[in-house]
Amino acid sequence: MKTLKRFVLVGAPASGKGTQSTFLSDTYNLKPLSTGALLRAEIAAGSQLGLEAKKYMDAAMFVPDEVVNGIVAKWLGENKDCGCLLDGYPRTVSQAEELDKNLTTMGMAVDIVVYLNVLPELIQARMLKRKACPKCGTTTRNGEEICPKCGAGMIVRTDDNAEAFAKRMKDYETLTVPVIDHYAKQGKVVQIDVVEEGEPEDVSARIAAAIREFAEA
Ligand SMILES: [Zn+2]
Repeated sequence: MKTLKRFVLVGAPASGKGTQSTFLSDTYNLKPLSTGALLRAEIAAGSQLGLEAKKYMDAAMFVPDEVVNGIVAKWLGENKDCGCLLDGYPRTVSQAEELDKNLTTMGMAVDIVVYLNVLPELIQARMLKRKACPKCGTTTRNGEEICPKCGAGMIVRTDDNAEAFAKRMKDYETLTVPVIDHYAKQGKVVQIDVVEEGEPEDVSARIAAAIREFAEA
């Protein structure tokens, strides 16, 4: 029986990753990593890494990898004894390589990568069903034509429009999918294929079964 302490969750935008992230942290008692929250905490504490990060955030620029990697490594070191869930990190192979290196130095490793592989057509359909009311701002996920609150006609959420979606999807495919290959080579990936629309609970149950099988192998 393998001991699984450090989990990574990977999935495309609108793959249902948020829901499954909550499921994983609740079920396996994992502390979720939020790089955004960590960066804000470092800045508030006025640490060296925080000051470095602030320069970029003030300029509305991406915080460079070495700063993010440093902050994540520090957090993992502080949480050596508890289970951790990395979601949204590592986002690129270079981040994954740096993460592996930092963990090795501390005598730790990524133990399992849960890969939520949702059919692209399914993701596209989900995006188009996310609507917003132009009048009162109510948002829905089930393709409602009429606002349930004020009765105005609903529109497809602008942040979910086809162009923005394509860009996020392309970033995921070019930057993050190679991270899955990186960990597959280490034999650490459990892949959950979602090919038809269903209940998130069913996906959670399949994830739990796959993790059990992985731990016992
Ligand atoms: Zn409305």
